Amino acid sequence: MSMTAVGPVPPAPHPLQPHAARLVTVTPEAPGIATYVFELADPALRARYAFAPGQFNMLFLPGIGECAISLSSDAGEPGRLAHTVRAVGSVTRAIARLRPGDAIGLRGPYGSPWPVDRLRGRDLILVAGGIGLAPLRPVVYHLIRHRPAFGRVQLLIGARVPADLLFVSEYQAWRAAEIEVIETVDRADETWTGRVGVVPVLFYQLRPDPRRTAVLTCGPEIMMRFVVYEALARRIPRDAIYLSLERNMKCAVAVCGRCQYGPFFLCKDGPVLSYDRVEPFFSVEEY
Ligand SMILES: Cc1cc2nc3c(=O)[nH]c(=O)nc-3n(C[C@H](O)[C@H](O)[C@H](O)COP(=O)(O)OP(=O)(O)OC[C@H]3O[C@@H](n4cnc5c(N)ncnc54)[C@H](O)[C@@H]3O)c2cc1C
Repeated sequence: MSMTAVGPVPPAPHPLQPHAARLVTVTPEAPGIATYVFELADPALRARYAFAPGQFNMLFLPGIGECAISLSSDAGEPGRLAHTVRAVGSVTRAIARLRPGDAIGLRGPYGSPWPVDRLRGRDLILVAGGIGLAPLRPVVYHLIRHRPAFGRVQLLIGARVPADLLFVSEYQAWRAAEIEVIETVDRADETWTGRVGVVPVLFYQLRPDPRRTAVLTCGPEIMMRFVVYEALARRIPRDAIYLSLERNMKCAVAVCGRCQYGPFFLCKDGPVLSYDRVEPFFSVEEY
């Protein structure tokens, strides 16, 4: 009788193991903010990788650490992985020092996407504050690709000062695709002739039909709180308001609990959640 060979099986790839990637291009966007396009080194992985608007990757710098960064590129071109990063701490500052050709570790995509397929046929109001436009940009690209499937689309963008507005060179193309882009800044300078005021105030000029409108928002929590307030005041249902929530993350695979938010792990159940699910926690400041 022949014996089946026994012995250690090859270990499964560790779920936290990053894949090798390479920086392809860097585009400065605003003071302290740039968009980094990465490409997975392994052609087979590159061909398999797919993401949905709103998802994020964990970017790993050996000897420094790892952090969550949203994909800001077109999910229709998944070989080109753009991440728009503000240099605030150890990992993001190390990313800011990278040059094209440099290596990085990348794992993902993780998290819940914006529910773009479920929102077909609806009017959409997208509301972005500061770098919150980065995870919404893939939604804009999706809408452009599938424009006839959606109703009226309004994109409200707020920045502290004009120089902080992101992706400005694309607004003309977005407008040409019948996306109404409305920008505002908290503080004007001598170059600015547009609107001044915080972004939720832009709701005053909208007349949404609450039966067919959904709101998608990402930005500082204080801004999103006012966006929710303005949306509810216009009778947009709680389950038609989607927020992208951010908490410090470590594992990104719903094990470590670092990003727990009420009953949710934001790395897996989030970052995108509808307001009806998070209301009890979202209404508590600093929850
Ligand atoms: C799902 C998700 C998506 C994200 N997407 C993006 C993205 O697209 N682009 C991006 O730039 N960041 C994004 N972030 C935020 C990013 O992961 C954090 O800023 C991260 O802490 C940066 O790591 P670090 O090591 O550079 O800084 P850390 O060493 O963690 O932080 C250094 C210091 O900066 C402060 N800090 C941390 N984050 C911010 C902030 N956002 N603004 C101001 N101060 C801050 C901390 O309080 C700390 O004092 C995302 C986070 C999550 C959870």
